[in-house]
Amino acid sequence: MKKFQDPNYLVKLEKAISKKYGSETIENPRKHWTESDEEEYENQLKKLSEKQSKLEEENEKVEVNGVLMSKKLLNRELARRSCPVCKTYSFNLKDDAYMSKFECCFKCYIKHIQGTPEGEERWQRRKIKLQEKN
Ligand SMILES: [Zn+2]
Repeated sequence: MKKFQDPNYLVKLEKAISKKYGSETIENPRKHWTESDEEEYENQLKKLSEKQSKLEEENEKVEVNGVLMSKKLLNRELARRSCPVCKTYSFNLKDDAYMSKFECCFKCYIKHIQGTPEGEERWQRRKIKLQEKN
């Protein structure tokens, strides 16, 4: 399981729980326990591990074109850089420029705009239509 990759994870978990329930809990969990204690303990465990995996997700780094970036940031970038026409995304600077000007990637620009005399104009009209729809 992913969340156990951190070798300190269980230690941290035990510390957090022993802080709340006293160290006896960890040494001999069932000695003084009632069923509702056990339930509470499980809830705490669940909450802690959820918190942990959320933190890991936010801090998780992914390599994109040789650059490390956080997954959170990457997802935001992907949404911004997705071509609305062909649905692919690009980290290419050229696509970036076309994306902000024509709201599509370079390939789509070549395919739909370049080479047609009124291509750009038509594209702008399409853009306005799309905006009106929204
Ligand atoms: Zn495209």
